[in-house]
Amino acid sequence: MDRVDVLLTCDRTLMSNHHGKEFLGFGTSAPPNWLPEWLFRYLFFPKIKKVNGLPWQAPYGLRKIEAKLIDEGIDALVVDPDDLAKYRAKIIGIYVMDPFGWGPSSTTFAGVMKTGEPYLAKYFKKLLQSKGYKKLKEEGAKTIVGGPGTWQFRYKSEFLDEYGIDCVFNGEGEMAVDLIRDALNGKKLPRFHDEYGAPSLKEIPTIRKASVNGLIEIGRGCPRGCKFCSVTLRPLRWYPYEKIEKEMKVNVEAGVKGGILHAEDVLLYGQRGVIPNEEKIVKLNEMAKKYYNIISWSHASFAAVAAKPKIIEKCSEIICDEKQKWWGAEMGIETGSPELIKKAMPAKAKPFKPEQYPEIVKEAAGIMTDNNLIPACTLITGLPEETENDVIKTIELMDDLKDFKSVIVPLFFVPMGKLKNEDWFKEEEMNEMQKELLIKCLRHDLKWINTIANEYFQERKRCVFLKPFYALFVKIIEWQGRKKGVLE
Ligand code: SF4
Repeated sequence: MDRVDVLLTCDRTLMSNHHGKEFLGFGTSAPPNWLPEWLFRYLFFPKIKKVNGLPWQAPYGLRKIEAKLIDEGIDALVVDPDDLAKYRAKIIGIYVMDPFGWGPSSTTFAGVMKTGEPYLAKYFKKLLQSKGYKKLKEEGAKTIVGGPGTWQFRYKSEFLDEYGIDCVFNGEGEMAVDLIRDALNGKKLPRFHDEYGAPSLKEIPTIRKASVNGLIEIGRGCPRGCKFCSVTLRPLRWYPYEKIEKEMKVNVEAGVKGGILHAEDVLLYGQRGVIPNEEKIVKLNEMAKKYYNIISWSHASFAAVAAKPKIIEKCSEIICDEKQKWWGAEMGIETGSPELIKKAMPAKAKPFKPEQYPEIVKEAAGIMTDNNLIPACTLITGLPEETENDVIKTIELMDDLKDFKSVIVPLFFVPMGKLKNEDWFKEEEMNEMQKELLIKCLRHDLKWINTIANEYFQERKRCVFLKPFYALFVKIIEWQGRKKGVLE
């Protein structure tokens, strides 16, 4: 049996590369449905291939903390959740994204299908109920959870006792090193550790092994300062090209062929303000395309697209070729109301004025459609300052976006960032306007999903073979939505 000081893992829905299609990862937030579980698992979160007994790819957050601990002289290893029983460890570090299914896509699926907890919550619990985890706990291992989903434990602290979770670390992973050292030295861990400090560029390590779907960070932080967002509490840092290139090489050398550039707004790479720099973005994407056959961006903003449309044209020329016809990004529309922009997201529209925001969104949507950028967008409703008029404005914007090739996901306000002391918005509080907004989003998505799916599966033969099953899943959502009265 192998001994490791810190064993790092995550549940099965996260330890997957989703057939090399990051977007399929959203399927993990669906609840069990008419597709048998074995088939659903294969379609949306197949087991990751192993090399020398270890996961070939692992979530980027795990790779980062693994590298940091090793750099600091701490013995750490990322392992498959099914392999925990093969090890002895002093600490189990578990990475979480949406442990209880309260994230945006989970709540959307729950709103339509109404059939219980999503797979990602089910598999998180399965990990904690597994023989391997229980064995490690019986041997005295301490459990620390970290990752973007840690906020959820604040609302379910009894869960910590139930599954022997000793500490919830909320902050950038690099800042957990001292806490981990304390745990290794037998010190008592706090139940919750909120870390507001942030590592400098030098303190952020380079990953040593491949990340899921070649995702690599190009920077951290965001200059827009939306009140409901926790990212905004951290400083803005952009990585130099060399640092980014090193991580691309790590992935490519491991055999990963595609990659995702990750930042809160890829278009602002290298900038202090909110106006994209063409030269920097072009250089970054050219470099990415040199290493990866297929690339996409994690996030970008409508305002940045509208501020420099030429950059999107150039990126389209760089990215789209015989290997890929389009690229994707997650983008927050959030609202169609200039009033709400002023109150809750004062820099969202910059360099434009809040009054121009709905027009900016429409203009950017046109630019993206013309240049093969297909985004997955979010809307937020239930903000404490939101009025009925704000929701009406968002509904009007949705009407104007009906020809925009995109997915638009509504999400409920969750108390985070500067609004962390406000009340959580609950589904049962929805008024008629908010319900109408949700239905509009669903109709939009059902209209576009098959078109997008057709393009999405073009590049890989195996995925073409699986395509009918994904289409069947969309039909199931539609059918459930009608049966439960969400859609007419
Ligand atoms: S633009 Fe996005 S990442 Fe930036 S502060 Fe607003 S919600 Fe957060």
